[in-house]
Amino acid sequence: MKPIVVQKYGGSSVADLDKIRGVARRIVRVKEEGYHIVAVVSAMGSSTDNLLSQAYQVSPAPPKRELDMLLSVGERISASLLTMALHELGHEAISFTGSQCGIITSDNHANARIIDVRPVRILDELARDKIVIVAGFQGMSYKREVTTLGRGGSDTTAIALAAALGATWCEICSDVDGVYTADPRLVPEAEKIESLSYDEMEEMGEAGAKVLNPDAIEFARRMGLKVMLTSTFKEGGGTVLLARDKAASGVAVKAVATRRKIYLVELSDIDPKETNEAVALFDELKAPVESLALRVGERATARIRLAPERVPDWALLERRIGEVFGESARIDATEGSASLIGPGLGDEVAYLRQAEQTLRRQGVAFHEIELSRNRLTFFMSAEQVDSATTALHAAFFGRPPSA
Ligand code: ADP
Ligand code: ASP
Ligand code: MG
Repeated sequence: MKPIVVQKYGGSSVADLDKIRGVARRIVRVKEEGYHIVAVVSAMGSSTDNLLSQAYQVSPAPPKRELDMLLSVGERISASLLTMALHELGHEAISFTGSQCGIITSDNHANARIIDVRPVRILDELARDKIVIVAGFQGMSYKREVTTLGRGGSDTTAIALAAALGATWCEICSDVDGVYTADPRLVPEAEKIESLSYDEMEEMGEAGAKVLNPDAIEFARRMGLKVMLTSTFKEGGGTVLLARDKAASGVAVKAVATRRKIYLVELSDIDPKETNEAVALFDELKAPVESLALRVGERATARIRLAPERVPDWALLERRIGEVFGESARIDATEGSASLIGPGLGDEVAYLRQAEQTLRRQGVAFHEIELSRNRLTFFMSAEQVDSATTALHAAFFGRPPSA
C-alpha cells in the first residue's frame, strides 16, 4: 500500500464549482506523486450559515437532531460534487459520509465528540486505488443518529481520520497559507509562522484564531501526526505542527489571537450549593463551559465564560438562567478578548507589564486579565478588540500599527 495523505478543504476552498474543479486538480497532483489521498471537505462557502438560518426561519427552536440532519447535508453536497469532478478528470473516486467512514461520536447533537474511528471502508477503497472524499464535520452516534461536530468540525474529521489511518501527514488547506502571528485579515503586517507545537496551536485556537479547530489537536497529539496548514490556492510552504517546536526553547511571544464575542454569565450573592446547579444547567443545555471561576464563602459568586459558536441555543440558555437564578444573574454578550501566546509567557512578569502598558497607551479599557503558563488574555469590550490586537502585535513583533 502507498503512503496515505489526508487533506482537508475548507468552505472557501470549495465555494463554487470552479473552485471544486481546482481542488480536484490539486488532489490529482498529489496522488500522482505516489500517495493514496483521502480528502475531507467542508460545506460550500457559507452554506452552513444559510442552512442554519433556514432552520431558524422555520422554527425558533429546531430539534437538535433535525438540525444535525440538515447541517450534515452541506458537506455531502461538496463531497459528491468533488467526486464527480475527479471522475471528469479520469480518476476513480468515491465519496463517504462521516458514518460511512466509521466516525463514531457521542450523542451530543451539534457538538458531538469523536469517540472512535473505524475507517474500514476507506481502507478498502484505497486498496482499490480510489481517491476517497469525505464529508467533514459529521459522524454517527453510538445510538446510530447523524451528529455534527461543532463549527469548524471538518478540521477534526480530517485530523482524527489521518490519525486512525496512520497517514504520513494531514494537510489543512484554506484561504490562508499558514498560521500567522495574528489574523492577517486584521493585522496585515502579521508574519507566517514556520512551525508550532501542538500546544501552541491549541492555545491559539482556544484564544480565537480560527485557522484550526483546537478540538482537532488531541487526535494529532495522540499519534504524533504531522499537520501542515497550507493554502488551497497558492503553492509553497505553510506552517507545520509538530509535537515539539525546536525553535521554542526560550520564552517568546508566538502570536496574538483575538476573540470578538464571548458570552459571560455572572452569578452573584448565591448560595454556595447553587454553584453546582449552574454547572448542571450548562450541562443540560449542552453548552460547554470554557472557564468557570468560583468564589465561595458564606455566599458565592461565579463567573462563567462560554464560546458563542458552541452554545446550541443561546435564547434558551438565557431563559433558563433567568428562571433558575433570577436577579442574581447578569448576562453579557459584549465582551471580547485579545491574547498573547507563547511558551512560558505567563511565568515572566515583563510580558504582562509590557502588554498592560501597550493597551493602556492605546486607550484599551480591559477589565480582567487571565494568566496561564502559555497565554496572557485581556478581556475587554468587543469593540476594542481590533485596536488591542493591532497594538499588541506592533509592540511584540516590532512593527508600527497600520493607521
Ligand atoms: P476554512 O473555511 O478553510 O476552515 P477558516 O475560515 O476556518 O478556514 O480559517 C481561515 C481563516 O482563519 C483565515 O481566513 C484567517 O482570517 C483566520 N485566522 C485567524 N487567525 C489566524 C492566524 N493567526 N493565522 C492565519 N489565519 C488566521
Ligand atoms: N461547515 C461547517 C462550519 O461551517 C464545518 C466546517 O467548515 O469545518 O462550521
Ligand atoms: Mg475552519
